[in-house]
Amino acid sequence: MTTVYLWPMLIVLALVALCLGEEDVGTVIGIDLGTTYSCVGIYKNGRVEIIANDQGNRITPSYVAFKETGERLIGDGAKNQVIRNPANTIFDVKRLIGRTWDDQSLQNDIKYFPFKVVEEHNKPHIEVNVGDKLKRFAPEEVSSMVLMKMKDTAESYLGKKVTHAVVTVPAYFNDAQRRATKDAGTIAGLTVMRIINEPTAAAIAYGLDKQDEVKNILIFDLGGGTFDVSLMTINNGIFKVRAIDGDTHLGGEDFDHRIMDYFIKLFKTKTGHDIRKDNRAIQRLRHEVEKAKRVVSYQLQARIELDYLYGGDDFSETLTRAKFEDLNMDLFRLTLKPLEQVMKDSGIAKEDIEEIVLVGGSTRIPKIQQLVKNFFNGKEPSKGINPDEAVAYGAAVQGGILSGEDKFALLVLQDVTPLTLGISMHGDVMAPVITRNTEIPCKNISTFTTIKDGQTEVLFPVFEGERPMTTENHNLGNFTLRGVPPAPAGAPQLDVSFEIDANGIVKVAAVDKASGNTAGITITSEQSSLTVEEIERMINDAEKFAEDDQKVKHRVLAKNELEKFAYSIKTQVEEEKIGGRISKSDRKKVNKAATKEIEWILEHPDELREVYEERHLELKELVLPILSNYMRKEEL
Ligand code: AMP
Repeated sequence: MTTVYLWPMLIVLALVALCLGEEDVGTVIGIDLGTTYSCVGIYKNGRVEIIANDQGNRITPSYVAFKETGERLIGDGAKNQVIRNPANTIFDVKRLIGRTWDDQSLQNDIKYFPFKVVEEHNKPHIEVNVGDKLKRFAPEEVSSMVLMKMKDTAESYLGKKVTHAVVTVPAYFNDAQRRATKDAGTIAGLTVMRIINEPTAAAIAYGLDKQDEVKNILIFDLGGGTFDVSLMTINNGIFKVRAIDGDTHLGGEDFDHRIMDYFIKLFKTKTGHDIRKDNRAIQRLRHEVEKAKRVVSYQLQARIELDYLYGGDDFSETLTRAKFEDLNMDLFRLTLKPLEQVMKDSGIAKEDIEEIVLVGGSTRIPKIQQLVKNFFNGKEPSKGINPDEAVAYGAAVQGGILSGEDKFALLVLQDVTPLTLGISMHGDVMAPVITRNTEIPCKNISTFTTIKDGQTEVLFPVFEGERPMTTENHNLGNFTLRGVPPAPAGAPQLDVSFEIDANGIVKVAAVDKASGNTAGITITSEQSSLTVEEIERMINDAEKFAEDDQKVKHRVLAKNELEKFAYSIKTQVEEEKIGGRISKSDRKKVNKAATKEIEWILEHPDELREVYEERHLELKELVLPILSNYMRKEEL
């Protein structure tokens, strides 16, 4: 009764001799697949390189957009056109991935999305126009497009194909969300060798140069959409996670929402207009609000000016740091709860934290820094690491180890259980068997019994979660132990063992001591993740998109070639050097044909490649015989 159950990976970094797999996986890239931005790194020649994308940026917006022509844009290109094309620009998909439609936080999120999210089999799907067709995408598909972009970025830099990756997720992602992220990798043509937690990756990034020191480190990661806290100990070269906590729904975007709400109300009071009715106005404001928020981390105030925001009215307001803090103070304070929780769970005193590491763009907010500092009785957080890149950095280090690039690496990731595992007893009471934050591999046995006289069958519902009532926890599956010899209630001794091996494989088994009968369970947690067929369809779709992308590219190339040719002959006959040799009537003929073609192109920007090619040929056939009378071969 064993099954590969993708146990959410947390960490214990252990200094152990590394036994590398035999498969040659090439360069294993490290990807921080963020809610708002993603980042990719590789480990090469003993160091990590964070790779800039085709725009020269080291972080890439996790945005995917479809233009009217059906052309797909990913990253900066997609984010830059969001104002013009809000309904077909997808972002924040990490908030949807692996969630069910009835998830309350999902319902709250989609209210703010300018793109359409619809239900399909109790899962969210994004509906956009791709050219003239309405198309639905699962969140996994959209994430796969972002992953593809990161893969392309790495491939362009390396000059070779990349097939394997380490991808990071928030610490509190549940099994379904992790599986969905892995599925996104598969759709993108990547084998995701490890899904690691973002704070874990940051710890690896930080820990590399500090391996010999004995320290307790607190990783405080506040990004665009998620918040994670992890407490790690480095003891004589051994890294160990002591506790984790966080909030999957707290970050910079929530702060943006607060400012948005404030300004939308203010605008309504002043002008009577409710801009919520207008996607474009909302997008424009959102863009400026985020910029202003960044500014007030460094200055005391920022101006927001938007001409003709809505109903002919301009928007002109100031955001002060004080107002920003006032609007968000309760959200800022929410970060303290998980901090308290990790201190409690780890049993480590505040004064024993040697280093506080700030990760994620939102840790640039002075008030956040101050709250953390105050929490630790005035201890300064370290800022020696770029908060936007630390996670990808750590993922790249892990990738380097897995690829064998770092042959002398001694760091290996091990896991701890992020949630308590147990059995639901009579009355929906959770009976924990393995408690959260237990290092794996681990095994634990608890003894259960019957509740009725003569009971011969016992149902064991397996749950994960921290709540005392299993109705509040997550059911992983059920199994039944049969053939228990009839006996008075409470007499049979039924041992239930939970065993998790180093690879995260979970075995749950029950044995009746009297009869020796056993039963167990295959925990697949399939209900929220994709089926093999769905993944296959999505891979095919991804390939089709790659074909479409190629088509678009060829169309644009064909158009450009035609345009180039038309302009070049026009310039040639107009230029004195050659034009002087050509008879007036021929010059006129060529000029007329070229001008006509240039005008036609302007009016027909989205024709088929074949149409451009045909016209190119026709133009050539028309003008080249004329020009050849006057020009040397090499001039044509
Ligand atoms: P990350 O997910 O780590 O890339 O963080 C992205 C979030 O950090 C976004 O919500 C940004 O608006 C926010 N952010 C980036 N720079 C700053 C800054 N200087 N001040 C406040 N928030 C910032």
